[in-house]
Amino acid sequence: MSTASNSALLDVKAVAKAFSGNHVLQDVSFNVASGEIVGLLGPNGSGKSTLLNTINGFETIDRGAIRLAGNRIDGLPVHRVVAAGIGRTFQLPSMPRKMSVLEVAVAAATAHHGIWATLTRSAAARRTEQAALKKAGELLDQLLLAPVRGLPAAALSGGQKKLLGIVCALMAQPRLLILDEPTAGVHPNLRRDIVLALQALNAQGMTMLIVEHDMQFIREVCTRCVVLDRGRIVADCRPDELVRNEEVVRAYLGRAE
Ligand code: ADP
Ligand code: MG
Repeated sequence: MSTASNSALLDVKAVAKAFSGNHVLQDVSFNVASGEIVGLLGPNGSGKSTLLNTINGFETIDRGAIRLAGNRIDGLPVHRVVAAGIGRTFQLPSMPRKMSVLEVAVAAATAHHGIWATLTRSAAARRTEQAALKKAGELLDQLLLAPVRGLPAAALSGGQKKLLGIVCALMAQPRLLILDEPTAGVHPNLRRDIVLALQALNAQGMTMLIVEHDMQFIREVCTRCVVLDRGRIVADCRPDELVRNEEVVRAYLGRAE
């Protein structure tokens, strides 16, 4: 194993994945070091979501290895990937109608820990619930949802649901936070808030891997970016180098969509 692999928090090595003969990921290798915010870019259908799915355990891989802090995580069920330290949000989060914002955040913690603390009456369960309530309150505050904590989660705007998705992922205290298009379809005012919230989380040490199409977001937020095209990594560079990268330009402009 190389030195780079040893120091990486996330190390994806030579990963391949096909769906009935369709080679969606081919020899994909990249890593994310602690403290980085890495952007994952690529045209539609290039394999970004599939790559995220293999990292968080939704999909198995055909070849290669995925490690978190040196430990293999490919092949583990999702709950063990979460326990290992990977949190993830979704492109289009849906929220329950009958639970408040605060209840959703607390339920995320109890679900992550596999302990339905709210359903049991032991002293340990009550302590767990109190700790989850305190943590949920802090995160809702940090991610600007404190004023709406009592509202039904389904009543939030699209951008607020994305923020609540981030809160839920953070309740498990991940080492790596994976975000799928955190600002897509979000009102410009809230977009600014999401950028600031992610920067604040990173300043506290949170490492992130973010799929995002918005180049301005990539330049503002990401320290490095990895570009996928037709299942292969065609660039791994600083955001300001993207426009000069011929492979990237070709991936986006070189063929008819
Ligand atoms: P992106 O997120 O970059 O738009 P995806 O990873 O969603 O790309 O899709 C890449 C390719 O993999 C597409 O051709 C898609 O149809 C295919 N694909 C993704 N998931 C599945 C699946 N579960 N079964 C079959 N094909 C899939
Ligand atoms: Mg996708």
